[in-house]
Amino acid sequence: MLHNYTETAVLQLLNDVIKNHQKENEMCTCERCRQDIMAIALNNLPPSYIVTDTGEIITQVSFNQFGGRAQVITQIMKAAEIVASNPRHK
Ligand SMILES: [Zn+2]
Repeated sequence: MLHNYTETAVLQLLNDVIKNHQKENEMCTCERCRQDIMAIALNNLPPSYIVTDTGEIITQVSFNQFGGRAQVITQIMKAAEIVASNPRHK
């Protein structure tokens, strides 16, 4: 199965970023804003395609082998700022 690992990384790290920022109430976490943040971050990150066996779950271990963690977090933070300053939710 062809899989874009960057997408998994963004999804997982977005949840971390939201958890860390919810206390400060800085981020809207509605579905629309989450997807806007993901789209912007993914457009600014290089795709990282891997092939997995069908049904294989991408674990935290393989996730840690992916070197771009800091880069992904940076792009999520930037995307969150863009979305916060111009939210498209109703
Ligand atoms: Zn929102």
